[in-house]
Amino acid sequence: MDNLSPLEKEIRRTIAATGPMPVATYISLCLTHSQYGYYVTRDPFGASGDFTTSPEVSQMFGELIGLWAAAAWQMMGSPQPARLIELGPGRGTMMRDALRAVQVVPDFRDAISVEMVEISPVLRDLQRNMIVDTGIMPTWYESLADVPSGPCIILANEFVDALPVHQVVKQADGWHERVIGLNASGKFVFGLAPEPIEHFLPMVPRPLRDAPTGSIFEWRPDNLAFEIGRRVRDNGAALIIDYGHVESAIGDTLQAIGHHAFADPLEAPGTVDLTAHVDFRAFGQAAESMGAAIYGPIEQSEFLLRLGIAERAESLKMRATPEQAAQIDAALTRLTRGSRTGMGQLFKVLALGDPKLGPLPGFET
Ligand code: SAH
Repeated sequence: MDNLSPLEKEIRRTIAATGPMPVATYISLCLTHSQYGYYVTRDPFGASGDFTTSPEVSQMFGELIGLWAAAAWQMMGSPQPARLIELGPGRGTMMRDALRAVQVVPDFRDAISVEMVEISPVLRDLQRNMIVDTGIMPTWYESLADVPSGPCIILANEFVDALPVHQVVKQADGWHERVIGLNASGKFVFGLAPEPIEHFLPMVPRPLRDAPTGSIFEWRPDNLAFEIGRRVRDNGAALIIDYGHVESAIGDTLQAIGHHAFADPLEAPGTVDLTAHVDFRAFGQAAESMGAAIYGPIEQSEFLLRLGIAERAESLKMRATPEQAAQIDAALTRLTRGSRTGMGQLFKVLALGDPKLGPLPGFET
């Protein structure tokens, strides 16, 4: 037992003392434990890390998101000041590329303050270093609820998938919380809470209520979607980019990734990334219930092509060496292609805004 990490020891102690813990509690400890959490202790991105996100694939991604934000701000009537808020900025790459691109819209650049919601001290440092050359100094917050109110544009790429997800399993007597406990040989194992969750049925989307016994349904608390909905309904706009499904569905999408390969979510807690698909239907409905208008989700490929990623690639290639041109083409393909290896179809983009604005850029029909 002595070779166990401090986080694994702590989780074992908790289970020994209070019984098996919900999957959501386990994910939360693994990712964001204040001392040993995955995001708190490392920089997970890039070739030498665990996974690569769209902004890390190419500067084109952040540039187009920046121009999207500037266009949304103009639709909002160019309010001054306005907050440009990013949730979970990782290395800060998307914000750096966005701020560089919006130099062509100086009014926007002058009007915005940059606000970052980030719990990881390691990543806050990386973000600071990444942004410093833009001449804009962000302010950091632990949670979106802490960011002062006012006209805002909220951006989140691969943030929601990192938030803890609850798994519930259908049984003859109702839906039971899926939990993690210890078996006789001391290994972490999945199990079910003995009693069904009371009054849970209204939480399950109607079409899924008749799912067969054993079906797993995943849900996240609505507070983030509520908070975004509240903020954007009065002259704001938001863009949520993530992998997930358009309709609520049955299925276990919890996955662990380390060094660009799938791992066992119950092995070595705190050293691998844990994620689960985003239920865009549930997210959109929660934000809508707060008065936001929602657009999409549409596939990332469609969104980026509508914003002009192909044209941006062509113009970058005009000033590129043949080797750089090949890299630009490869990045374009990776960001927009479907199939198993591309990010174009798995990733979806949901926009939310003040209903008075009408469809946001990229979502016009
Ligand atoms: N948007 C970045 C990084 C995505 S990874 C990119 O696309 O490259 C998820 C990010 O969210 C990391 O920066 C992580 O530290 C942060 N994060 C995860 N859970 C969080 C939470 N509960 N509150 C605030 N930030 C969180």
